[in-house]
Amino acid sequence: SAKSDGRGVWRFFEPEMDARVQARRALEIDIRNALDDGNFEVFFQPIVNLRTGKSSVCEALARWRHPKRGLISPDAFIPVAEETNLIIELGDFILHEACRQCVTWPGNVHVAVNISPVQFRRGDVITSVVSALDRSGLPAHRLEIEITESLLLENTAAIRTTLENLRSLGVRVSLDDFGTGYASLSYLHHFPLDKVKIDRSFLQDVEVSSRSRRLLAGVASLSSELGMSVVVEGVETPRQLALLKELPGVDEVQGFLFSPPIPACEISSFLAAGSFDFEKVA
Ligand code: C2E
Ligand code: MG
Ligand code: MG
Ligand code: MG
Repeated sequence: SAKSDGRGVWRFFEPEMDARVQARRALEIDIRNALDDGNFEVFFQPIVNLRTGKSSVCEALARWRHPKRGLISPDAFIPVAEETNLIIELGDFILHEACRQCVTWPGNVHVAVNISPVQFRRGDVITSVVSALDRSGLPAHRLEIEITESLLLENTAAIRTTLENLRSLGVRVSLDDFGTGYASLSYLHHFPLDKVKIDRSFLQDVEVSSRSRRLLAGVASLSSELGMSVVVEGVETPRQLALLKELPGVDEVQGFLFSPPIPACEISSFLAAGSFDFEKVA
């Protein structure tokens, strides 16, 4: 059994464990240096109002411009940044940069910023947000904070208070990737939320399955009836868009069909180009 030859088993796994710990340590040092060298940047993905076809919000998405490895996606560094608390400094940078860019955009478009649960637990989200708003001059109502279900599951008084304080400032709070975690629908009315972003997994089968369509329709209309505005993430096909336009609860759509995340310098001209012609797309 594992127990009788426990030492042997342990020794067997040791070199592999060691390699993993070392790789993680190396990545941590890399992230630290990238923060100091200014190698992180913010891309933005437009979110489109389903009624007007206009981009109403742009979501800030972190990118690492690595001198040797090129552009690196958040999945490759956010988890380690969270484990090492470097996400607090990285998150502050993203927040400031997102607000700084947003004030330059035409048409009072909002900016949405992802905030890690680690920032809520170990950082001071209110101080960071107030400082980003002050330094950029961005009005609070144009900032949307995206939180995850895992944060709500912690369900602590401190987190609830922080969310309430954000909303007293005028900042909006969105629940990101809804439906992927363990939060039940009841969380939607137990927390002060302005917006629900329904995860793209809900779109997966809508083109072929009427059950999937009804599930998406149900989640959207329930969220909407609870007073939240509803975004559907990951719209990739004209057919998905056509289906979403028939759903009464859906306010906004986000996905590669409209635009991938693009560099900050390209956003203003994208927004100035006007609204989406849904008739043409669908
Ligand atoms: P998210 O907040 O749900 O962001 C949306 C992700 O979905 C982005 O991936 C975006 O590129 C991708 N996406 C958008 N439209 C489509 C589509 O039509 N199809 C598909 N397949 N994907 C689409 P990205 O930029 O790789 O970011 C991944 C995740 O990393 C984000 O998911 C978020 O959880 C995290 N993240 C990114 N930036 C930050 C940040 O500054 N702070 C924190 N804490 N997390 C971040
Ligand atoms: Mg997000
Ligand atoms: Mg999301
Ligand atoms: Mg998602």
